[in-house]
Amino acid sequence: MLFVVYTAKNTNFNTFLDAVENKTFDLRQNLIVNSDYKKPNKDIVIIAIDDASYEYILDKYGEWPLPRDVYAKIIDYLEAQHPKVIAFDLMFVKSIKSKTDADQALINSFKKYNNIYTAMNLDNQSVELRLPTELPEKLSVDVTNYSQDINFESLTFQNCRTILPELLKTTPNIGMINVSRADDGILRKMPIFLIYQGKYYPQLAFKVGMGIIKQEENYNPPEFIINKGSELLLNNRKIYIDNDGGAILNWYGPTGTYQQISMFRLIKAVEKNEKFNYNFKNKIIYFGTTASSLFDIKTVPVAKLYPGVEVQATYLNNMLDNSFISKIDKRITILLGIILAVITGYLVINVNSAIIVTLSFVSMYSLYISFTYFMMKYHNLWIGIVYPLILGFLVFVSAFVVKYIIKSRDFEQQYLLATTDGLTELYNHRYFQEQMKMQVEQAKRYEAPFSLIIIDIDYFKKFNDTFGHQAGDAVLRQVAQLLKQSVRATDIVCRYGGEEMSIILPNTPKDMSVVTAEKICKRVATKRFRLNNYQESNVTISLGVSTFPDDGETAAEIIEAADKRLYQSKNNGRNQVN
Ligand code: GH3
Ligand code: MG
Ligand code: MG
Repeated sequence: MLFVVYTAKNTNFNTFLDAVENKTFDLRQNLIVNSDYKKPNKDIVIIAIDDASYEYILDKYGEWPLPRDVYAKIIDYLEAQHPKVIAFDLMFVKSIKSKTDADQALINSFKKYNNIYTAMNLDNQSVELRLPTELPEKLSVDVTNYSQDINFESLTFQNCRTILPELLKTTPNIGMINVSRADDGILRKMPIFLIYQGKYYPQLAFKVGMGIIKQEENYNPPEFIINKGSELLLNNRKIYIDNDGGAILNWYGPTGTYQQISMFRLIKAVEKNEKFNYNFKNKIIYFGTTASSLFDIKTVPVAKLYPGVEVQATYLNNMLDNSFISKIDKRITILLGIILAVITGYLVINVNSAIIVTLSFVSMYSLYISFTYFMMKYHNLWIGIVYPLILGFLVFVSAFVVKYIIKSRDFEQQYLLATTDGLTELYNHRYFQEQMKMQVEQAKRYEAPFSLIIIDIDYFKKFNDTFGHQAGDAVLRQVAQLLKQSVRATDIVCRYGGEEMSIILPNTPKDMSVVTAEKICKRVATKRFRLNNYQESNVTISLGVSTFPDDGETAAEIIEAADKRLYQSKNNGRNQVN
C-alpha cells in the first residue's frame, strides 16, 4: 500500500517506471512481429527514394530535390492506372533551384486529381527567422475533446514551414508530418491532430486515411469527437489517444514490411513511357525517402533505423485496419497488480514450502506476462507489466520476511514451552536432565567442579490437606520465586517433580554450595507465604547437596548422592541441609 501511495506521489519514480514499461512494450511488439502473426495491408506500396534513386537523380538531373515537373509526369503516369491515393511524405518547399514552371506543373497535377496528398511541418522557429503564416481554413478540422486525460500541449506549435504558397492554396490534401518521440528517442506514438493558431491540423497519414474512408465508406464527419475514454470514434473504428495526444502505433514488421519500389525504376519507366511491371490499380502509393543521406530515419520499437515513410505507412495501416494500440487505464493496471499481490501474499504466508511458493509466484507472473502479450497480439491492448511486477515482488519479499519473523517467534515460544514448567515457571525435569549431562561434560573438559542441590518441601501432603491444593500451589510458586532470587544468574533452578526442586550450580565447589543451600533453607523457614487473600503460613524445606567430581562421575551418580543427602535431612528432623 505504501508503494502505491509512494509512486502516485513521486513523479520521478513514475517517469522511470513508465520508461521501463515502454521497454516491455517494445519487447512485446518485437515478439509479435517475429511471430509473423500480423499481415500488413497489401494495398500500401512505398515508392522509396533510396540511396540508388538519390544517386540516379543527382546523376540525371544534377540536383536534389527532383524538379517538380518530373513529379507531375510521374503522377500522370500513375493516375492512368487508377490508384486509390498518391501521398508524398515529402515537403514541396520553395527551393533556390526550383523553377516556377516546374512547380506549376506539380500544382496543376494537384488541381487535376483529388487523390494526391502532400506534407507540411509545424515548428517553433522564432519570428526572427520568419513570421508565422496563416494557413488556409480548409486544412484544419474541428475537434471536440471530452477526455480529461489528454493534454495537447506538446503538440501545440508557434510557427510552421510552409510549402509552395500556390500549392497551399490549391489543395486541402495537406497533412502535417510532425512526430512524437519518447524521452528515450524512440517513436512509439504519432500525433493525430496538431494545434497551430488555435486550430487543429491532422497528421498526413490521418488525412490520407480519412480520404480513403470517405471514399470507401462514405463517412465524412463534420467534426471529430474524442470521447471520455480518450477514444476518437471513426465510423466502426476507434483510435485510442494517449495522454499527450498521440496514437500508439502497432508495428507490422521491421523495415521492408510494405511493398517497396525504388523510385529510380519508376522514373526510368516514366521517362521512357514504358509499362511498369507493377499494377498500381487501387493501391495506396506513398512516396518517401529511405536513403540514409536524406535524414528521414527514426528509431521505432521494432527497428533502430526506420524510414519516416514506413512510419506513415504503419500509421495508415493501423487506421485502415483499426489496429492502433489501446492502452489500458492505469487504475485498472494498479487493480490487477493489487489482486496479484494479494494472491502472492496469501501464498507466501499460507504455503509452507518455499520452493512451491517461489514456483507459484514465478508461474503466476509468467502467466500474467503471457496474458498481456496475447492481449496485445490478438486485441491490440497494452496492459501494464512493470507496476504489477514490482508490487508483486515487493509483496513476495516482505511476506517472506514477515513469515520468518512469525516463525522464529513461534519457535522461541515452543522452546520456552518445552523447557519450562507451567506452575512455577522454573525449568522442567527434561531440561534438568539435559543440563546435568551437559554440566558433567563441561566440568570434565574444564576440570572444574559443579554442584547440585535437591530441595523437598516438608510435610507438604499435610499442608495440602490442611490448606487445600490451591494454597499448596501458591506456596510452590513462591518457593520457586525465592529460590531464583537466592542464586546467581548462571545457576539453573528446576522443578524436579511434585514439590521437589533442584538447583544446578556450575563452577561451584561443595562448601560454597552448602553455604547457598543453608541460606535458602533459612530464608524459606523465615518467610511468611501468602496462601490466599487472607491467610499466611510458614513452610520448611529439606535440602541435599552433592558435587562433581567428589560424589560421582556421572549425572545419575550426582543426582543419587544429592537424593541420599536429602533423605538424611528428612531423617534428621527436616528443615536442614546435608
Ligand atoms: P516429606 O516430604 O516431609 O516427607 O512429607 P511430604 O508430605 O512432603 O511427603 P511426599 O513427598 O510423600 O508428598 C509430596 C506431596 O506434595 C504430595 C502432594 O500432595 C504434594 N504435591 C506434589 N506436587 C504438588 C503440586 O503440584 N501442587 C500441590 N499443591 N501439591 C503437590
Ligand atoms: Mg516429595
Ligand atoms: Mg515433601
